Amino acid sequence: MRRFFVSPGDIDNSQVYIKGSNAHHLTQVLRLKEGDKVIVFDGSGREYHVVLKNISRDLTVGEIIDVSVSGRDSKVRVSLVQGIPKGDKMELIIQKCTELGIAEIIPVLTERTVVKLEEGKKEKRRERWQKIAQEASKQCQRSIVPHIGEICTWNQYLASIGNDDTILVLWENEKTVGLKAFLENNKHLDKLTLVVGPEGGLSQEEVEELLQLGARTVSLGPRILRTETAGFAALVMVLYELGDLG
Ligand code: SAH
Repeated sequence: MRRFFVSPGDIDNSQVYIKGSNAHHLTQVLRLKEGDKVIVFDGSGREYHVVLKNISRDLTVGEIIDVSVSGRDSKVRVSLVQGIPKGDKMELIIQKCTELGIAEIIPVLTERTVVKLEEGKKEKRRERWQKIAQEASKQCQRSIVPHIGEICTWNQYLASIGNDDTILVLWENEKTVGLKAFLENNKHLDKLTLVVGPEGGLSQEEVEELLQLGARTVSLGPRILRTETAGFAALVMVLYELGDLG
């Protein structure tokens, strides 16, 4: 069945409102008709089974016939704090991590981040990334859309860390503790954060600041992975060991 993402405000007790480009896609491209059934999701985890009632070019109204919770979302909540990389690598990271089951991605400007983002452009960029997460969720039939946090500075990120957060810093200079060993000893975790540096890595000072806040460093093995590989490799390992992958 076709799936449509709408914002939570477009769903009431008995009806959903499919608007804008979604409505256009529904009528002009898919040529759906009144009486056809579709699935609508709003990113919250619920899925609405809907019969289309009133179809026009810019607005389709559907009647909700059933609500369910999708079984496609992992109970283990993994957040990725990603040092913003160059070019469009962030888009790839968001798309792949969404498919694999990430809960949240927080883009941070680190000491070695090369891209310069003007203040006015940050929100636009974040919205674009959020849209990519939305599209990827739709494609892989997740009903929870990962949240893309506001682009923040390193200090803003440090200030947001809570006391009970489990934070793993993926660090190529960690020679003793591997992610594998960490996960074997922490099988009951249901929430954790992975921190990945940009192309040039995290600085020694950044790693130390995180350690002071209770984070720990882990290695992903003997090879140096690209920044766009490190996050999703780690995510796969976490959700394979503790979650629902594999
Ligand atoms: N500082 C290095 C490589 C950075 S790789 C350099 O410039 O040569 C980019 C990021 O990927 C790192 O900050 C780290 O978070 C992650 N990463 C890559 N390989 C890793 C490994 N073997 N173990 C843990 N993290 C790794």
